[in-house]
Amino acid sequence: MGKGKKIAVLAVQGAFAEQIERIRTLGAECVALRQKADLMQDFDGVILPGGESTVQGKLLVELEMLELLRDKIRNGLPVLGTCAGLILLAGEIGNDQHVWLGTLPVRVRRNAYGRQLGSFHVEEAFQGIGTVPMTFIRAPYVEEVSQDVEVLARVADKIVAVRYGNQLGTAFHPELDTDNRIHEMFLTMCG
Ligand code: GLN
Repeated sequence: MGKGKKIAVLAVQGAFAEQIERIRTLGAECVALRQKADLMQDFDGVILPGGESTVQGKLLVELEMLELLRDKIRNGLPVLGTCAGLILLAGEIGNDQHVWLGTLPVRVRRNAYGRQLGSFHVEEAFQGIGTVPMTFIRAPYVEEVSQDVEVLARVADKIVAVRYGNQLGTAFHPELDTDNRIHEMFLTMCG
C-alpha cells in the first residue's frame, strides 16, 4: 500500500511515534519533521499528529516551520491532521483566537466534549470506508464547514472527519486503533 511513498510526520510534540509506526507498517518510508531543515527534503504527504495544538503551533512558529508547512499544503501536499493536527489546519477555532496553518476552511471547537466526556471510544460510519473505530481524547469537533468541504463522519450529529482536496482531518485518533483504513485512504491521496 505505502510502497515507494515517503511520508513525513510532524514530530515536535504529541503522539507522533504511533503515526510513524503505522506508516512504516503500511510499507511507506517515514521521516520525522523536528526542525526547519527537515522540511527541505521532498515527501509525498505529511501527518500532523494529536497532542496539544497550542504547544505544537507555538513550536512551529519558533522553529520557523509554520509558513513553510503552510506553503506546501497550499501547493497541494496531502496532509492528514488528527485531533490537535486538525486544530492546526483549521481556518478558525471557535473557542480560541489562534489560527495556525489555517489552510482548512472549517471552524473547530477545542476540547469540545467537556470534562466528563474527555475520552471515549465509538464505532461509526466513515464515508467511503464503512464503520471504523474512533478514539477521542480531549477532542475537538467541527462546528462549521465551508461549502466545498466534504463531511466524512459524524458522531452524535457533530462532524468529526472532513476532507477538502488534499487535506484530511479527523477529530479522533486513527493511529490508536488497529484499523488501518483511514491511513490507507490517506496513502492513496499521496500519489
Ligand atoms: N485538546 C487538544 C488540543 O486542544 C487536542 C487533544 C488531542 O490531540 N488528543 O489541542
